[in-house]
This record gives sequence, C-alpha cells and structure tokens, in this order.
Amino acid sequence: MTTFPAATILGYPRIGRNRELKKALEAHWAGRTSAEELLKAEAELRQANLARLVELGLRAQDASLPENSSLYDQVLDVTSLLGAVPARFEGRRGLELHFALARGDQGSAPEEMTKWFDTNYHYLVPEIGPNTPISYADDRYVERFLEAKNWGYLTRPVIVGPVTYLALAKADEQAPEGYDPLERLPEVQAVYATLLSRLEEAGATWVQFDEPALVSDNLSRTRLELAEFAKSAYTELAGTSNRPRILVTTPYGNGLSALPALASCGVEAIHLALGLGALPEPGTLDLGGVDLVVGAIDARSIWRADLAQTAALLEKAKLLGARSLCVATTNSLQHVPHDTALETWDDPELDANLHAWLAFADQKVGEVVTLAKGINEGFDAIAPQIEESTRILRERATAPGVVRPEIRERVGALGESERARAPYGERAAAQDARLALPALPTTTIGSFPQTTDIRKARAAHAKGTLSDADYRARIEREIAEVVALQEKLGLDVLVHGEAERNDMVQYFAELLDGFAATRNGWVQSYGSRCTRPSILWGDVARPKAMTVDWAAFAQSLTDKPVKGMLTGPVTIIAWSFPRNDLGLAEVADQIGLALRDEVEDLEAAGIAIIQVDEPALRELLPLDAEDHADYLRWSVDSFRVATAGVRPNTQIHTHLCYSEFGQIIDAIAALDADVTSIEAARSRMEVLPELAEAGFDHGIGPGVWDIHSPRIPSVEEIRSLIDAALGAIPAKRLWINPDCGLKTRGYEETLASLSHLVEATKEAREAL
Ligand code: GLN
Ligand code: ZN
Repeated sequence: MTTFPAATILGYPRIGRNRELKKALEAHWAGRTSAEELLKAEAELRQANLARLVELGLRAQDASLPENSSLYDQVLDVTSLLGAVPARFEGRRGLELHFALARGDQGSAPEEMTKWFDTNYHYLVPEIGPNTPISYADDRYVERFLEAKNWGYLTRPVIVGPVTYLALAKADEQAPEGYDPLERLPEVQAVYATLLSRLEEAGATWVQFDEPALVSDNLSRTRLELAEFAKSAYTELAGTSNRPRILVTTPYGNGLSALPALASCGVEAIHLALGLGALPEPGTLDLGGVDLVVGAIDARSIWRADLAQTAALLEKAKLLGARSLCVATTNSLQHVPHDTALETWDDPELDANLHAWLAFADQKVGEVVTLAKGINEGFDAIAPQIEESTRILRERATAPGVVRPEIRERVGALGESERARAPYGERAAAQDARLALPALPTTTIGSFPQTTDIRKARAAHAKGTLSDADYRARIEREIAEVVALQEKLGLDVLVHGEAERNDMVQYFAELLDGFAATRNGWVQSYGSRCTRPSILWGDVARPKAMTVDWAAFAQSLTDKPVKGMLTGPVTIIAWSFPRNDLGLAEVADQIGLALRDEVEDLEAAGIAIIQVDEPALRELLPLDAEDHADYLRWSVDSFRVATAGVRPNTQIHTHLCYSEFGQIIDAIAALDADVTSIEAARSRMEVLPELAEAGFDHGIGPGVWDIHSPRIPSVEEIRSLIDAALGAIPAKRLWINPDCGLKTRGYEETLASLSHLVEATKEAREAL
C-alpha cells in the first residue's frame, strides 16, 4: 500500500502573493466583474500556487500538494458542501448564496463570525438545528481536484473534518434549549462518505480532514468526548468502499489525547504537532497501522526553524514505530505571509538580519523539503543546512537589540509592589472627588469614524508627501472636531478619536523598539480582509512618548476629562508575530513596562483617566486547559505592570471586545481596572448577573449600542438596556457606553446613536 508522501504542508496561504484573491473578490462585490471573471481569477491563483509549491520542492504527482483554497472561508465551504443553509437564506443559490452567508444581503444577516481556535483568523459559524437540511449539495471539492489534475497536479483535497465542523457550530434559532449540533454527526458523516466516493472516482489518492477541535479544551465538549465522536465518525468513513486514503490532522495543539482513537479507526495517516518534550516514549503507542505525519515546522511562527532540534524530534518520532514517517507543518500556512523575498527594511542591518532569521510560507516549504530529505537519506545528507540554521540562530541570539540587559534587569526587578494599586475603595473615593462625574457617566470606547480623508492624510504622511507639520495640523483639526462634537452631544468623558492610528497595535509597534513592520506581510483575517502584523523581534523599549501630545492637545480643548488611550500587552502580542526566543510572560512584562512609562507620562500631562484596551485577552487563552492558569497569571500581571504606577485619583479603564467571559472571569476582576467596558447590547446584558456573582465590584460599562451593526438604536431601546443593567449593577458603578470603538461606523449613524445614548441616560438618571 502506498504510504503518505514524505514531505507536505497542511495548507498554503490563500490570499495570494499580491493579494489577488482580495482584489478579485472586492472587484466582484463592487459589481465591476462577473461571477465568471471572479472564478477565473480564483482558478488562476490556485494554479499559480500549485506551480509555486512544485518550484519550492513539493512533488506534483503524489498528493504532496494540499488543495486548501477557498473563496471565502474553509468552514463556509463545508456548510456549502452539506447544504446546511439557515432558512433565512431561502431562494438564493450559487455564489449569491455563498456571499449572502458570508456577508449578509438585503434580506438577511450573515452567519456570525468568530475566531478560529487561538488564531486571528475568523470563520463563519455554522447554524445547525434538528431541521437544518444536510445532504451532498456542492461538488466544489471534486471540481477543484479535477481542475488541478487537468493542469498536471495530483492534489490532496483539504477539508475541515466532520467533528470539528459540528463542534464549532452553534444551535440554530429553532433548536430546543441545550441542543448540540453534534447530534447531526451521522448525517454529516454520510455526506463526507459521498464526497470520498466522488473524489475516488475523480482519481484522488489522499484527502486531508482537519480536526483541530480534538486539541481544544475551550469548546463545549471535552477533548475526550470529541475523540469519541471522531472515533465513530472515522471508523464509519474508513469503512466507505472505494475511497481515497485519509489523513486526519490535529493542528494548533497537542493531539495526543485523540491519538489512540484515531490510530484504531482505520484511517491511513495521522498528523501530530508536538514538541520534542511532548512526544510519547517508544512502545507506549501502537502506530503500526498508520503513517505518522509529524508537524515539525511551526506554521504559526514566522521564524526560521532550528533544524538541529527538528531533526532530533524526527529521530525520536521514528522510534514510535509508525508504518512510515512524514514531515509536515504544524498547521496550515494560512496564518503566515507568503514570502520573505517580498520584504525590504530600510535599515540595512535589520534588513540583513530579518532576511536571515525569518521564514514565511515559502521558506517553510523549503524547510519541510529539507527535513524530508533528512528522513529519507539520513540527516547527514542535510548537515550543511542544519549547520546553517544553528549558526543563524546563534547570530540571532547575540545580535544588537535582541537582548538588552537594561530591559532584562528592569523586568527582573519587578515585584508585587509594581503590580498593585491602593485598595479600590480608596481609589474610588479619590477619583470621585477629582472627576465629579454625574451618575451613570457616558463615554465612548475610543475611536471615532475613520474618514477616507483621514486615511489619505495618514498614507500621505507615511509616504512623505505630507509634511510633519501639515500632518499634525490635519490630525489636530480632526481631534478638535471630535472633541467639539462630543461636547455638543453632552458626553461626560471624552476621547480624542484615534484619528492618528492606522491600527490599535501597529501604531504602537511602529513607535516601540523591538518591532519591525512589513510591507507585504499580509495574512487573511477573514474573506477578503487581511492584516499586516508587525514582527516583534527584540527587547521592547519606548524611545519616547507615543500618545501624550495628542491626548494633551485634546484635553487642552475641553474642561471635561479626556481619556488617554493605549493598547495592552496581551493584545499587542496577539496581533503581532511574537518572538519565539523568549517566554511570552517576559515579553508581556517588557511591553507592560513601556506602557507603564506612557501611562505615567499621560498622568503627568494632566490626563485623569487612562484606558488600556485588552480585547485579545480571551483570544490568546491556550487551547490546553493545563496552560490556562499560567497564561492568566502572566497576562493579568502584565496589565497590572502597565497600570499600577499611577496615583489613586487617576482612573484606569480597560475595554474587552466581547461578553462571554466564562473561563476568564476571575482574570478580568484581577486586572483591577477601575472601570471595564464590555460588549453587551446584543446579548441584552445577560453577562451582568454572571459578573456580579463572580464578585466583580468595580465600575462596569456594558455596551448599550451594538456598533457591529449599522442600525441606530432608539432612545427607548437604549433606556431598556440601561434599566436591565441597573437590575444587576448598582447605579454607582454603572457607566453608559457603546459596545466598542466607532472607527468602522459612519458619522451620521454615530451622531444619531450617541445622541440617543445621552438622551436615554438622562431619562435613566431622572428615574434614579
Ligand atoms: N480603543 C479602541 C477603539 O475604540 C478599542 C478597539 C478594540 O478594542 N477593538 O477603537
Ligand atoms: Zn472592542
């Protein structure tokens, strides 16, 4: 029997070296191209990607090439495969249906979007109930396979597995209380069986089913329960007559707990992504019947691999006695940019260093190919590459800026006292006296609408076509307008509007030492949306104040307090590419110290309220429950380093972009912020009793306007949310604000909604 190919990757970036997919999608949505033109552009991209992978050393004819392309999202593709379309989309077909599910249309809201495991990628959440139609409804996987075959490539279709698909689904509106979408597994499995037969007929030799749910403790089922579902599903699928061979992957974490189930259900290959320490001892597992595909190259990081260490991992994996041993990435390369060759950095030293140290998708394909050669011919055959990697790592460790003793010492000297403020009661009294705010103070989360004109000014300034002085004048004009607007609306605590920020992380990364921005390092966030995370390569320091001028300027225009606005350490880490040569706890403290200096400068400039946003606090929660406590400790600690240096009468706010706290509720309380704003409008304040129960007794601002929707909430609607909040939170601690920042909203809706918010608050105050 043919074994799994020796070298592969679990998936390749889908957006295109030059963001071809983004451009094609957006041109189509704007009505500039037809459906045929869109599909043609997408096919050209697929063909180019396959050609590129072969050029990089993967083989064209033995299923080494993953076919993981997707027009919008890999989970949506399975929804299409199953025809599992919520009733509100009835009457739509084909591409129109596909994009309605993804983006909504005149009649219907889209499917909800949420983050894919602990990554920054968003998938479309399937809505599954007892009556959701499920049948083989879409032949696109087969069509893509055949198209590639026609171009001369034997690809390996990559599909989100049935257990993960259903574990990520939510019960639809018709489902009874407590309904679990996994109840539909037998029917979903039957569709996958049909797909297998169709692919076999088309000539496919291998398919890949991704089952990241099997590594996560953060879903509604435990990983052991999910492994049981996987065992039954794959035993059934393996029993399909006439099918391609099956690879099941466990990306993003430790798949060991599912391994016994997967190894005994009849699939031919299993992927595991484990570090050297986590590999089981030889003889403890029976893998004689399967090919073991080792995720040896880290596809989450952007760093060149330590080939010596990876070779040791593979040597050890060899002893596990699998039928054959193959090399792959830990997960799809969709979370890293295409190619370091597309980058240049202005500083020649940094440019040379980063080119040596980094490995984006294309470089990682090269590493996989090299390692496979090591497995096949012995690691001596790749000795020069191993030596090169060791040398570069050594050089990286001692390069200027990577380790700065003064920063290491400052972090090392941090103690409890740097992380603790005066007791809350004392602070609250001092802040009340200083701020003299009315009951139910109104505020916003920070950003105001980002107009095209402001974006243009920022771009022109970055390019050098707008002088520093003119740029400053332009931003100050914007700040003045935003401040005037808030005064006119009658808000109590104002913001400067964040017009100078392209992005809440990149803005700080550009001003801090230790970060490098990229020009083309785009990664898909969802659909056509991409982000360009900065590279955190060295010790972090703040050469000069980053936000004080803007905040002080805004404060000079008004007697009302203006909030200083910063992004917290965890969010800065989560939305960058962090270094892999220093623990994240220490990286977070370095950022925390840089922010601490900024917070103190803001305080010295007369800013009485400082907000440190941590929207990514929950996103970075490790998938493995064993790692939760450690993560929550250091993430909270770093926030406290950033914020605990101020006087009791300076008020610290934080903002979290969600309302489901569950596993992190104690951590939120432990942040010890004086005021925490959260999302709550859509869930109608459901979270508040939960927070009260957990003993959260500081200020809280549950959002009363769902800013993710263009709808303008009425005064009555906001009033009813305020009343609901007052049912769970004493008026003394309640703040009134929107769910999140307003940068994606327009001015018209912002004005109307905020004036309703102020009006509703007035009514609520009178009723107190
Ligand atoms: N201060 C930021 C803003 O208003 C917060 C955004 C966020 O947390 N995502 O834009
Ligand atoms: Zn938010």
